[in-house]
Amino acid sequence: MMPAIDLSQRPVSLYVHVPFCASRCAYCDFHSSIPTDEERLRWILAVERHLDGLERIFRPAGYETLYIGGGTPSFLPVPQLSRLLGRLLAGTGVPRTPIEATMEANPEDIDSTLLSVLADAGLNRISVGVQSLEDDARNCSRRRGNADSTRARLETLASRWRGRLSADLIYGLPGQSVDGLARDIGYLADLGFSHVSLYELTLSDESPMARAADVGEIALPGEDERHERYVAAKETLRGRGYQRYEVSNWCKPGQECSHNQRYWRMGDWLALGPSGSGNLRLDGGRFLRLDNPADDMLYASDPLASCTISTIETDDAMFEVLMMALRTSEGLGVEDFRKRFGVEPSDAFGEAVVRYPHLVSLREGRYVPSDEGMDLLNVVLVACLDALQGNKAGGHV
Ligand code: SF4
Repeated sequence: MMPAIDLSQRPVSLYVHVPFCASRCAYCDFHSSIPTDEERLRWILAVERHLDGLERIFRPAGYETLYIGGGTPSFLPVPQLSRLLGRLLAGTGVPRTPIEATMEANPEDIDSTLLSVLADAGLNRISVGVQSLEDDARNCSRRRGNADSTRARLETLASRWRGRLSADLIYGLPGQSVDGLARDIGYLADLGFSHVSLYELTLSDESPMARAADVGEIALPGEDERHERYVAAKETLRGRGYQRYEVSNWCKPGQECSHNQRYWRMGDWLALGPSGSGNLRLDGGRFLRLDNPADDMLYASDPLASCTISTIETDDAMFEVLMMALRTSEGLGVEDFRKRFGVEPSDAFGEAVVRYPHLVSLREGRYVPSDEGMDLLNVVLVACLDALQGNKAGGHV
């Protein structure tokens, strides 16, 4: 049974997971598949039904931010995409004027029709999965499109889109060069991308890329090579005026992704689509977690009933709040923490948050990570988790 929490007076965000792609990239373990028409229709009906149900229960007055991710949302045929956007941005009952409304897109799907549909619906931000503009890296990754076709689509996007632009890049891909990654960043900066997400390649053992590396078909860059690319990428981003405001996210001043900030600040959001996960604040600093199944059929059979509902109790919630806040340059506010939990971070974690002052320091009432602290966050988090568990065992929190 879904507990009824009144969201009408709270700022709320909405995430929509589109679990479809035109093809599968060799490194990817996101929840997505290549759909049939029937599967797409089933998904959209389920999403509409889910949103109706959630809005009946929680009564949000609107959504401050909307993020349509996946998968590849831009791979939805235009009639389905228009229908989805119509429901999300102009649906019944709930006024919908998000401050920020983002959709992820694959460059190969970008054309003037798609851009008109998005602009007319009220989207104001596009996040493009670029990953690399080097053909060797794209081939090893089995990315759709080659470097030239991707550049052509990005140039169409930059010349026609009036909203904000973000790009995802991966470092550590086989076939990627140090100069190439730096060049990609410079190219995106020249096109006017105000936000860049820079992720390290991480592979599950079952991914096609990991298997190809196991049998010697491709060579994955070693630790030193990955580090070299990372350092060059960071230097280029800084040199082009981007600021690191989260472990993997960089932006020009004032161009942070508000939607993701809601996650890092552990606010309230609802999630539609299989594998999506919502979070609502409860009293005592606890959270209600709403996890949609990562199973398209189960989700479509009854999106509300198939959702797993759990309560994140205070001690786990404290750790989540710390973990998410220390990912960001704004860090963790002592007063914010006290308002949520009735205790200060030092009551929960002792001196562990600042045990490594070159990684995290207390400045003007906030625990703030250094650049190195963002890279080595786990060192701090392990110390904090140990301290929290020790405090719990000793009955201090
Ligand atoms: S397009 Fe994105 S979600 Fe789809 S397979 Fe590639 S990386 Fe995964």
